[in-house]
Amino acid sequence: MKYAIIADIHGNLEALTAVTGAAAKEKVDAYLCIGDVVGYGADPAETIRLTRSLDPKVVVAGNHEWGVLGLLDIDYFNEYAAAAIEWTKGVLSQEDLDYLKSFRMEYDEGNFTLVHGSLDMPAKFSYILDEDDAYITMKLMRTPVCFVGHTHLPGIFYFEDGTIQFTKGPEVKLEHEKKYIINVGSVGQPRDGDPRASYVIYDDTLSTVVVKRVAYDIEAAQKKIKKAGLPAWLAGRLAEGR
Ligand code: ZN
Repeated sequence: MKYAIIADIHGNLEALTAVTGAAAKEKVDAYLCIGDVVGYGADPAETIRLTRSLDPKVVVAGNHEWGVLGLLDIDYFNEYAAAAIEWTKGVLSQEDLDYLKSFRMEYDEGNFTLVHGSLDMPAKFSYILDEDDAYITMKLMRTPVCFVGHTHLPGIFYFEDGTIQFTKGPEVKLEHEKKYIINVGSVGQPRDGDPRASYVIYDDTLSTVVVKRVAYDIEAAQKKIKKAGLPAWLAGRLAEGR
């Protein structure tokens, strides 16, 4: 199977449209989604619609879904995220909310696991930012590979010679008996200094993982954020990839 793995779309329809266009050219067999379909961006209903149309095999929940559903205390979020969550609640239909409710907390199948933040109490949405964080999740992994999102920073942690290493990739060939945590980056709000949308192609036949970047119409997404009355900072950061 060839999977496109997407996360942290954050209501950015322009970015998701660009990613699905690029993934179609790669002839992927199925989509997997690691959460935060909504939040920050101006098109949460439209990104839900497009995500559903991809018929993803699995969607796991992000903290923004849980925020919108009232399952995560608003104190978890900074002021911009909290404002966006309140705004998002107002534009989603009951059907949209029911779809968000259907997302599971974590998922594993065959040789891979999906979780939004970390496997250390997934509903707390902790971040895997460094080797120490990665170690905690690696100890909990029941599969050799775990795909995550949440930090909006694509990259690959792997266990080798008794220590955890990190690489930005963009490509890694999965080796037998090694463990990997793969952060797929963010479709709709990258924060690694590269403003292009990020996603991953995972080929479980070839055992390859490739972090892909694709340019999209940032200006259009920014205009919509400003027009919606969402915090202007959320528009500005898209151009910088921060
Ligand atoms: Zn996110």
